[in-house]
Amino acid sequence: MPPASVKRPRAASAGSPAPTPIAAPRVGFVSLGCPKALVDSEQIVTQLRAEGYEIAPNYRESDLVIVNTCGFIDDAVRESLDAIGEALAENGKVIVTGCLGAKPGEGGGGLVAQAHPGVLAVTGPHALGEVMGHVHQHLPRPHDPFTDLVPEAGIKLTPRHYAYLKISEGCNHRCSFCIIPSMRGDLVSRPIGEVVREAEALLKSGVKELLVISQDTSAYGVDLRYRTDFVGGRPVRTRMTELCQELGALARSHDAWVRLHYVYPYPHVDEVLPLMAQGLILPYLDVPFQHSHPEVLRRMKRPASGERNIERIRGWRAAVPQLTIRSTFIAGFPGETEAQFEDLLAFLKEAQLDRVGCFAYSPVAGASANELDGALPEAVREARRKRFMAVQQRISRKRLRRHVGTVQRVLIDAAGPEGAHARTMSDAPEIDGIVHVAPHPSLRPGGFVQVLIEASDAHDLSGRVVERT
Ligand code: SF4
Repeated sequence: MPPASVKRPRAASAGSPAPTPIAAPRVGFVSLGCPKALVDSEQIVTQLRAEGYEIAPNYRESDLVIVNTCGFIDDAVRESLDAIGEALAENGKVIVTGCLGAKPGEGGGGLVAQAHPGVLAVTGPHALGEVMGHVHQHLPRPHDPFTDLVPEAGIKLTPRHYAYLKISEGCNHRCSFCIIPSMRGDLVSRPIGEVVREAEALLKSGVKELLVISQDTSAYGVDLRYRTDFVGGRPVRTRMTELCQELGALARSHDAWVRLHYVYPYPHVDEVLPLMAQGLILPYLDVPFQHSHPEVLRRMKRPASGERNIERIRGWRAAVPQLTIRSTFIAGFPGETEAQFEDLLAFLKEAQLDRVGCFAYSPVAGASANELDGALPEAVREARRKRFMAVQQRISRKRLRRHVGTVQRVLIDAAGPEGAHARTMSDAPEIDGIVHVAPHPSLRPGGFVQVLIEASDAHDLSGRVVERT
């Protein structure tokens, strides 16, 4: 079974190497988890290719398999452990990296080593050097100069026209439901010069959309005390607003989009709204509010109360009327009363958010929320999630309907004889909706076209090309 193509179809094709003149050692790669984990995968695959390893399309042709795991929720843990088991059964030589690798097992030792003692090595997330050390030990690096042909932008596991740009690792918050800080550590920001250089290389390689990711984009640079770095010889502070200015200017010169993810509602977020109004970065904010009620937010150890968030949303929309706001919430958090849940529904109706995800609370091993009293039965948590989504579906349907009859610039993700799947500036890849575009000769992946929106539902839009941009 193909290690990457089955679990994550995008991984195999992107990592397929050019033929090399002599047989190079071949590594299979399975990439699981969130965009942050995907960026770790890209860095490892890039390094492997830089050193002359090939990326194998299946277990049989692999000399060794790397599994990049996720350990966030129980389902992800199960999926990761299954993937490791499969790689061991099919190939036998397996190195494990990623969040699950940092997770302790019962009674000491790592969870992965306890579940699968046959693995060659285990590392935590964001551990390129460590992973490569284990690869060198178990599959010595080749000495073939012809294999050094790696594009400047590195190997991307996303489609060629969009790329995740990781600006920092780790997080200084301690939300009670989350174990990411214990797996990925405190915030470590990349200096702004390094981030902008990577962005430029990506844009030069044909990327049309940069997706800025981190655990907390608003906190970018806090750990460095907003240290001044150099971008093209100019001194620039390592800070969110400056980063958005630099990325926006670069993207504009390459006719590309910049989209911000994981933005916390701190006051300085207001500084980036003028950049959205000017069209330098997309008018899109992905803000994980998680709840509205101050008491629930306190138990979650989240900053900012629901009331202030409504004010912020109003302010943002006044500054940028075309702003799309995406958020995520948790229903059925321990101790959440029916009244507090109804407060959340009222917030939702008032906020009129464009894109919303909701999870029924699920206890994550190692999270401090597990110690809270008032745990709710699974049926209640799930029923609240469904009620939440029913309310949001009506809102999403209504907000999407506003696009019908307008002409939107869309970025095409996939195209064929049946038409195309594309996205407006309101839609992030994989998490938001899509635009179904009727067949047209100008449709090609990675291209922008103007589309007249003719219909909508609760998630997606459909329309036809009216003019090439
Ligand atoms: S902000 Fe909270 S939920 Fe997000 S990574 Fe940090 S601790 Fe986890």
